[in-house]
Order: sequence, then C-alpha cells, then structure tokens
Amino acid sequence: MTRTGFYPGSFDPVTNGHVDIITRCANLVDELVLGVGVHPGKKSLLDEGQKISLLQTVCGPISAATGMNIRVETFDDLSVSAAQRVGASVIIRGLRDATDFDYEVQMGQMNAAMMPNIETVFLTASPATRMIASSLVKQIARMGGDISSFVPPEALQMVSASLNTKS
Ligand code: ADP
Repeated sequence: MTRTGFYPGSFDPVTNGHVDIITRCANLVDELVLGVGVHPGKKSLLDEGQKISLLQTVCGPISAATGMNIRVETFDDLSVSAAQRVGASVIIRGLRDATDFDYEVQMGQMNAAMMPNIETVFLTASPATRMIASSLVKQIARMGGDISSFVPPEALQMVSASLNTKS
C-alpha cells in the first residue's frame, strides 16, 4: 500500500526549514503532496506558478535521493478536504516554537474532528533551520539583507527577481 502525506503551506518562498521537513517525510510516507495554499485576499511575493515551479525544482533532488515521490498541487479549500482529495492519510506540519504548537495542535484537533480518518503528524524543526520563517525571509530580502543561508539557491534567485520586478 502506498502511504501518501499532504504538506500544506504558503511556501512564499520555500525555505530551508520546509526543505528539512520535506526531506524527513521520506521516513514516513512513500508519496508526498505539497499543497500550495491559494488565498485570493492574501498578498504574496511569489505567484502560484512561481511557487509551483520553485517547489518542483527544489524537490527533484530530494525525490531522487530518497525515493519518495513528490507532487505539487494548489488548493483553495480546507487543508483536510485537499488532503482527502489527493488520497493522503496524513497531514504533515512543522513545529518551530510554542506559537506554532498552540496554533497547530488546535488546528490538528479541529481537522481530526472534521475528518477522523486523516492524522496530523507534527515534525519538530531541526535546530539548524528552526528560526527560519518565510515572512522574515521576505522582510530581510526587501530590506536588502542576505537570505542565502535561509533558502535554497533557486528560491534566492526567484525572490531577487521578483523584488526587482516589483520595485
Ligand atoms: P511560514 O510559516 O514560514 O510562512 P508556511 O505557511 O509555508 O511557512 O508553513 C507551512 C508549514 O511549514 C507549517 O506547518 C510551518 O509550521 C512549517 N514550517 C515553516 N517553516 C518551518 C521551519 N523553519 N522548520 C520547520 N517547519 C516549518
């Protein structure tokens, strides 16, 4: 039986923290679907197409190294509904700190109440990437800071290009 996981997020942009979680999913599932959440009202730096192509590029080597099949999908409904649609039995979430914990546990429990057949699995952030948040990465990049140690090289390029276009 193929075990499928669903890892939802904004991925605006994908960071080394996301990459850490994605790579470690190979210990848990055979197939991972990355769910790029699309919220029309929410302003993001990268558009849907950029996020998808970036995730595909970054995940190619992870897939090759681990044997885990990785797909990228967008969704604009509940993450549990999207998880069910793609055939996932587990939703993966990363935990960085107590703020993540409080929010994620509550959300995980409400998701479980709605869809008891889907388990949420929490992976604690690795020490080297625990402090990374997409929101801070964007803020640093907008102010001319160096984000190269926080994101994969392909994301660095895309973020720089995007900021140049928008400025
Ligand atoms: P962010 O919270 O940085 O804007 P997302 O909304 O894309 O990123 O987050 C998607 C999931 O990835 C969430 O479960 C979040 O807790 C997790 N995550 C984000 N950054 C990290 C990190 N540095 N280490 C571990 N998990 C992370």
